[in-house]
Amino acid sequence: MKTKLLAASAIAASLVLVAGCGNSEASDSKKEESKKTETTAKHEDHLDYHDQKSWQFEAGDTQSPINIETAKTTKMEDKGTIELNYNQKVTDEVDNGHSIQVDDGGTALINGRNFELNQFHFHAESEHTMNGKHYPIEAHFVNESQDSRLAVIAVFFKEGKANPAFETILSNIKKGEKTTVSEPINVAALLPTNKTYYHYLGSLTTPPLSENVEWYVMANPVEVSKEQIAEFNKYYDGNNRKVQPLHDRPVLKHTD
Ligand SMILES: [Zn+2]
Repeated sequence: MKTKLLAASAIAASLVLVAGCGNSEASDSKKEESKKTETTAKHEDHLDYHDQKSWQFEAGDTQSPINIETAKTTKMEDKGTIELNYNQKVTDEVDNGHSIQVDDGGTALINGRNFELNQFHFHAESEHTMNGKHYPIEAHFVNESQDSRLAVIAVFFKEGKANPAFETILSNIKKGEKTTVSEPINVAALLPTNKTYYHYLGSLTTPPLSENVEWYVMANPVEVSKEQIAEFNKYYDGNNRKVQPLHDRPVLKHTD
């Protein structure tokens, strides 16, 4: 009984509040009547549901690549673990006119969600920059979820020891052609063991530049030799899109 009474008085109180709001609204609308020009201007700001074709799309402010300023990144709150299980037996390798692309399969578990690898390809020099610095090459592993969301894992290549997996890719390039690759490629050698990364929401870096692409830029680069960089540059040198403005996007850091 006591709770019922309390509930009843609460309803009564809210009725008074509602009535209060109604009263003030009434006096507001009276004020507005006297300012007719202002009222007309306000109406133009309202959504016109009879002319939905004129509604504007907001796009172009979340493009890739970006410069990652490591000191301005935020610690990722999610667990964020990445587990990759990419196939060593690749489908084919193609010189598609804007990069060397390896069509491959396999799985990626990213922050608890399932993706499948579509392909990976390379840019020279790197598209993303770290504190304003380019690396000689950047690899992009393009992963897709069941609902077609794209998650690209970016790996920087720096000059160092020769990379056997990159060697297999270089030795199979046929200029402007698609080739079948008979040898297995140890794709894991193209990825850093420590998977600390920077994450942000961006876009494809080639047309149609679609947004809402998840980026995972690996903090640790992989080594390839000076000769391998020079060999890749024979095919592509300058297939990197310019760094785009970050605007107010957060860049998160996940530490492996
Ligand atoms: Zn790319």
